[in-house]
Amino acid sequence: MIGEIDVLSEWIPEQMLPGTIFVLENAGKVGEQADPYWAVLSCPSCGTLGLITRKQLAGLLPVICGSDRCSAQFFINDNDIVTRKPF
Ligand SMILES: [Zn+2]
Repeated sequence: MIGEIDVLSEWIPEQMLPGTIFVLENAGKVGEQADPYWAVLSCPSCGTLGLITRKQLAGLLPVICGSDRCSAQFFINDNDIVTRKPF
């Protein structure tokens, strides 16, 4: 486990510290219908902001950081961030 998730109820970019999630106002309406975008997550390792989908938020799919300089891969497990185990 690398940390716990903080949920912001208001979009305050300065408060998007690593491991913070903000649920989109139009959650479920953008992206693919089978797995729409749901929230913005600040990478727990480097703080890069990225969109995550409903399945990623539910822990069904791993989240992979979008930054070139960070290779964090992790699962969201309820309120915890869990490092993806190497295969
Ligand atoms: Zn990262």
